[in-house]
Amino acid sequence: MKEIYLDANATTSVLPQARAAALGVMTESFGNPSSVHGTGLRARAILDEARAVARRVLGIDSGRVIFTSGATEGIQTAILSALTELRRRRDDGRAVSTDLLYGATEHKAVPEALRHWNAMLGLDFSIRKIPVDSDGRHDLAWLREAAPFAGLVCTMAANNETGVISDLDGIEQALSGSDALWLVDSVQALGKLSLDLARRRIDYAPFSGHKLYAPKGVGLLYVRDGSPFSPMLMGGGQEGELRAGTENMTGIAALGAVLLELERGTTFKDAAALNAYRSALTSALREAFPDVVLNAPEALSLPTTLNFSVPGLTAKQLLDAFDSAGVRLSGGSACSAAKAQPSYVLAAMGLPDWQAASAIRLSFGPADTSTLIDEACSRIKRCAEALRSNCLSSRPQKGRAPTPLVTRFVVDGACCYLVADTASMRCVVIDPLPELTADLTKWIQCRGFNLAAVLDTHSHGDHASSAADLRASVTALLQEPAQLEPLGWPAGTSEIQLGHFRMTQIAVPGHTRDSTSYVLHKDEDKLFVFVGDTVMPGSLGRSDFEQSEPLRFATSLLRLEEVVGSNTLLLPGHDYDDRFATTLSVEREAQPLLDGVFKGELDAGAFAVGKAELERDLGLTAYQTVACGARVGHCSRKEAVEIDAAGVVSLLDTQSQTLLVDVREIYEQLLGLTSGFGAEAKLQAAPLSGVLSAMPAWLDLPQTTPVVFVCRSGNRSAQVARALRALGRTNVWSLRGGLALWPGLHAAHRQTELSSLARPS
Ligand code: PLP
Repeated sequence: MKEIYLDANATTSVLPQARAAALGVMTESFGNPSSVHGTGLRARAILDEARAVARRVLGIDSGRVIFTSGATEGIQTAILSALTELRRRRDDGRAVSTDLLYGATEHKAVPEALRHWNAMLGLDFSIRKIPVDSDGRHDLAWLREAAPFAGLVCTMAANNETGVISDLDGIEQALSGSDALWLVDSVQALGKLSLDLARRRIDYAPFSGHKLYAPKGVGLLYVRDGSPFSPMLMGGGQEGELRAGTENMTGIAALGAVLLELERGTTFKDAAALNAYRSALTSALREAFPDVVLNAPEALSLPTTLNFSVPGLTAKQLLDAFDSAGVRLSGGSACSAAKAQPSYVLAAMGLPDWQAASAIRLSFGPADTSTLIDEACSRIKRCAEALRSNCLSSRPQKGRAPTPLVTRFVVDGACCYLVADTASMRCVVIDPLPELTADLTKWIQCRGFNLAAVLDTHSHGDHASSAADLRASVTALLQEPAQLEPLGWPAGTSEIQLGHFRMTQIAVPGHTRDSTSYVLHKDEDKLFVFVGDTVMPGSLGRSDFEQSEPLRFATSLLRLEEVVGSNTLLLPGHDYDDRFATTLSVEREAQPLLDGVFKGELDAGAFAVGKAELERDLGLTAYQTVACGARVGHCSRKEAVEIDAAGVVSLLDTQSQTLLVDVREIYEQLLGLTSGFGAEAKLQAAPLSGVLSAMPAWLDLPQTTPVVFVCRSGNRSAQVARALRALGRTNVWSLRGGLALWPGLHAAHRQTELSSLARPS
């Protein structure tokens, strides 16, 4: 599958002309431009020509153009220069405005450099954020008022996340009468926007090579004629004594070649073509996701950047799906696996949290072709289809993906489970969380299940049950009897039937007075016990709440063991360390208190005292952060479970029973099949959200059968492998680096690499 790279605002590939120029410098014209012999002179000519073309492209015949290592260096140098000048003016006793202003949506390099140099130079000048409006443009009225007090103003030409183009004329007008220095971060403008540097009073304009088809590690800094300058690097006097250090000639030659192409105007598309590309992509997005929201106005943005959110889909879900389809995009925000941090750029524009947290940035470059854009459009539509078939879109699905018996949802470590029987089309939700009502509703409605019960394992100390909300939102599919016990169990019944499965309950007071565990049976087997916070991996539920019953806790644990035994999988109400499940025998090993109860060494009173001791310094819970039990130290220990591609090849060669399990979600698997493992390989799909369903079978396999988990990056597969190791299963592995590094997944020409991987004899 050919990669469709749409993350040009992060970096671009290197243009063939730039590659050739760099190679020429590495092979033939490798001289040091400071040398006076012929080899050096040839290098000097390349350096001079690159600077000359930069001047022509930027439209400047005065001022300085300095080659740097990239925009971050350009920004540092500009800020150091400006602050040094402000200090000099102040030290000369002149009345000087010293506020340092920067746009609220600026790249981090700017505010961080302001803070750094302000501190390094001991200035203590005030640093202030220029607000932006809902379109992402600077608040010019604010700026006009602040300008008289400003010593330095930093604004960007175009934003890297949204593509929003700043109103540089408006900013210039707002600065009229102020003697503030002006830095314009021009990284995203190069090749896409005219900056009119000669006409505008911009003092400093940093650029970066790798955002426009030059390699990483080279950039430019334009400094207006007469604007203050202080070198950041001193040494051999290179760059006219403005930036010491032997020049990065490969980078400079490559950047020169790119600028030359820009000047010739044949390689890069013009604005009309780029606008047409954007329209095609926007239409594809609208067709694929009818409720897609664009996070910045198209009329004010670079045609090469689209920032969007899709209601009901997280950035992670979208990125995982696109990545599986070989489409490389990025989150408009920094995403962690657990929770997406809203983008500060979109937050500054006042966008709602969901929009700022689920934003996706699609950016292409002016050298991209219509073939690439057409392919991107069709893959966008395929991604939407795959997400729909997994009930992850607001439109009704066509063709349904298989439904696991147990699906787990996690919000900040708190777990909710959905048990679904496809034969009877009945399901039960255990411990619904308020954040999940919409997702659970979508899950149930889209798949057409009937909701047989909504159960809580206890009255939660850290959050309200959202059972009532869930019931209200799926009324038509509710199959509960009219009379319910307080935690949702159908009154007067001993079992809930789910086709071939049934559920029973056990009262386990301790963590709370009403703590209850639910057992899922299939025939005579007990498959899982939903234990809430009674037992969690590495801890027992805390018993110091007002509603706790510490003196009954020990008896409850004995009762649990009596009913379900030591080895049935317990699914906890909180799972802070991605352990998924535990058993009483595993927890006995880890928790002396529990062991003491089972050995008969601790009676109910002694247990309660020991437990209180453990909980003495435990903070009050707020479930986002604090453990609901006192965890024992080992629980977050990370086992080494990784195996590299060569190791997997060797396992497949030598042990034919090796099981390969793809733990990506089904919509990802639909978009990019796990391939290249060989026709004989035993492949199983077990998406992480439903991975619990397959755990009992993996635990039953002989220890000699190797199980290798794979996913996109190696993160999720490592979680599952570690969870199984903690449950005592050895010989389970996670493919290091994930499928991204698996040779077989790449185009056919990489197959050769697969066969050439080291195969231990
Ligand atoms: N400014 C903007 C707007 C950017 O997008 C970037 C790169 O992400 C930078 C500055 C930093 O550039 P460089 O990677 O060349 O240091």
